[in-house]
Amino acid sequence: MTIERIIKKFKKIHPGADTSLLSSAYYLANKAHQGQKRKSGEDYIQHSLHTAYVLTQIKADINTVAAGILHDVPEDTKHTLKEIKQKFGEDIYNLVKGVTKLGTLKYRGEEKYRENLRKMFVAMAKDVRVIFIKFCDRLHNLRTLEALPPNKQNRISKETLEIYAPIAGLLGMWRLKWQMEDICFKFLHNEEYQKLEQKYEIEKKAERNQYFQKIKNILSEKLKNHGIENFEIQVRFKHLYSIYQKMKKKGKRFNEIYDVFALRIILPTIDDCYKTLGVIHTIWKPQTKRFKDYIAVAKPNGYQSLHTTIFGPEGKNVEFQIRTQKMHDESIYGLSAHWYYKSKSNSQKNKQPHWIKEILKIQKNINTKNFIEEIKLDIFRNRIFVYSPKGDVFELPEKSTPIDFAYAVHTEIGNKATQVLINDKMSNLEYPLKNGDIVEIITEKNRKYPNRNWLKFVKTKKAKENIKSYAKKTTLDSIKKFISRENK
Ligand code: MN
Repeated sequence: MTIERIIKKFKKIHPGADTSLLSSAYYLANKAHQGQKRKSGEDYIQHSLHTAYVLTQIKADINTVAAGILHDVPEDTKHTLKEIKQKFGEDIYNLVKGVTKLGTLKYRGEEKYRENLRKMFVAMAKDVRVIFIKFCDRLHNLRTLEALPPNKQNRISKETLEIYAPIAGLLGMWRLKWQMEDICFKFLHNEEYQKLEQKYEIEKKAERNQYFQKIKNILSEKLKNHGIENFEIQVRFKHLYSIYQKMKKKGKRFNEIYDVFALRIILPTIDDCYKTLGVIHTIWKPQTKRFKDYIAVAKPNGYQSLHTTIFGPEGKNVEFQIRTQKMHDESIYGLSAHWYYKSKSNSQKNKQPHWIKEILKIQKNINTKNFIEEIKLDIFRNRIFVYSPKGDVFELPEKSTPIDFAYAVHTEIGNKATQVLINDKMSNLEYPLKNGDIVEIITEKNRKYPNRNWLKFVKTKKAKENIKSYAKKTTLDSIKKFISRENK
């Protein structure tokens, strides 16, 4: 890797940008790491440059890329953070300091794990870009993991799967997540990895390519006939770790998971996306149940695309994702790409997603180890999205109940909930909600307290806390009443 390659890539994404900052960051880092070698035998600066290159790929801003080049300078050389502050200013100083402070998170048992996770969240709440750098740093460390002894390979892989990968997912940085996971998978479950790789990458490859060419030829011609140009058709590769997980979780065989052939089409405009959808549906018969318009109605996490599955040639199911370049970048690079496009459109920059603010709030009154447990329960668990009758979207943890929903809407609605309509049908308050349910809570005005039995089934922190605080209050009230009666 060279600094020239990074600058070239950066300029491609940010045309006309002044990149002298990157050159001077390189100048210092190169001098600082002079003579240092990685375990792999490479010059140390290679690690810094690779880290910075991945940052460029995910569309990070120039300060983040510069901080990526400098990220190991204060830790491993005689050049200090102070010097970085003097030469590069407050912002880059804070980023490098943030990365240095995270230090080497070492996986040693549950306690340490919680502490590390907490550190990550604290850093993230201050400035998420620190985590971007840490991810790219980690990805390159994983790519060079071969050079380390097996016990370290093991530790780093485990730690990545348990801490880094889930957080990357939270931030929508799927490509990084998948890349990290596949490498860890290879080190932790080598035999299974080899088996899947053999099946997916080697045995199925020719078949996949042939089928892809077939579809591509038919579709390209029709798209051109309809005046649609500048499209890109890609095969969507499944990453091996996700296949492995699915097989394990659902007890399925490889072929059952592999059965759908997945393609992606990237187009210049939204208009082109809909036109392309129309063209696809005139060539092949769509499976109406599997059509989703996430462009008109984005997923609550911001994801946009058209999804359709058609009955393709040779009786195969073919799933298409149709989207613009911006939608595509945001869907694979997550928050980082989101900021890039926001800054391009000059609207609010670096706006933090809602849940980071939530973490910040909870973070302020950390007093127990439960903090991490709560976060894990509320955020790491799979999420579902349900709707109010007006169409407002609420994101809840899996298996949430109407009571969780009621508290998510408003504390008063939770406290006074008595009945629920789910998709216009009467249901019960313990019912585990499913993605896409429309939930209408019926309240009783005169009701004062929530039912403490709800504690047995609610899932969210908000619902639990509200019910508990009333439960305490009602106990106190009845004790008071009891005492006053005794006194009479
Ligand atoms: Mn590093």
